[in-house]
Amino acid sequence: MPVGTAATVKGLTPADLRGAQTQIVLANTYHLWLRPGRETIETAGGIHRFMGWDRPILTDSGGFQVFSLESRRRLDDDGVTFASHLDGSEHRFTPENIVEFQQAIGSDVAMLLDVCVKLPATREEIAKAVHLTTAWARRSAALPSKAGTLLFAIAQGGLDAKLRERSARELVELDFPGYAIGGLSVGESREEMYATARATAALLPEDKPRYLMGVGTVTDLVASIDGGCDLFDCVYPTRCGRNGRAMTHGGELNLFNAAFTRDYDRLDELCDCYTCANFSRAYLAHLFRAKEMLGPRLLSYHNVYFVNDLMREARAAIDAGRWRNYAARDSNCSPC
Ligand SMILES: [Zn+2]
Repeated sequence: MPVGTAATVKGLTPADLRGAQTQIVLANTYHLWLRPGRETIETAGGIHRFMGWDRPILTDSGGFQVFSLESRRRLDDDGVTFASHLDGSEHRFTPENIVEFQQAIGSDVAMLLDVCVKLPATREEIAKAVHLTTAWARRSAALPSKAGTLLFAIAQGGLDAKLRERSARELVELDFPGYAIGGLSVGESREEMYATARATAALLPEDKPRYLMGVGTVTDLVASIDGGCDLFDCVYPTRCGRNGRAMTHGGELNLFNAAFTRDYDRLDELCDCYTCANFSRAYLAHLFRAKEMLGPRLLSYHNVYFVNDLMREARAAIDAGRWRNYAARDSNCSPC
């Protein structure tokens, strides 16, 4: 899922997203709650109409953003109160109002409010996060359902195998249509993240989507697919796209490197996206040096296409029973 924080994947139109093989985008509840707010989106006829995107939209719960605010939020057993990063105004998220917000704006997949702990953390802190995340999931599960919006729960537990197991088991008992693995990419090493994601995925139902949150480099995606994860989101491809970093089959390229100013090759010889089919590395390098807005646009397009293509190839490789070969090949050539 490309990330459309404020109901837009930066620099890309919905037509671009479709052209780049995008099936689903993610939007951030925290940001939409603060601006433009629920009423504006509801009045527009829902998030799909508001942003002109007719394919699925997953909204996160805002938990991750709120817990990143640290000094500007206050957690209690019923929810979390925080100060807006925009104007300091006070807001409160509860397991109930977060689900209601996502249902009201018409999200296809709504994430439950969870408690996310930054690592390293004490076992007590992580245990408390697991306890509250389950208690909140029970409250969310008891809410009236709304046709068209699926609720996904988020398993926590830090790097603690026992707490991960407890979190996953308690949430699976509540029988949600999908599950996310949360609380990773928050300060742990890559090896720790891979091992924890793999162990947690094994505890979640195989016939439901298993979503690893906040992961998006090629190396991380391949390792996490290998570990049993199905769904991912990350700002990485578009953030790199805005900053002159191309994700390619030959690894990452920094278009600000002098060598690219006279390199008339395709950006990625194995990619058949619009950018690669029509423009040279020299032209793209020129756009970035000249600070032309077309540069970030063309490169974001390529990076999103590239990651979607990677996922499409991964699905095909799994279906054809040749995932092992594919994973070995890909981890050799893309040290992102
Ligand atoms: Zn391309």
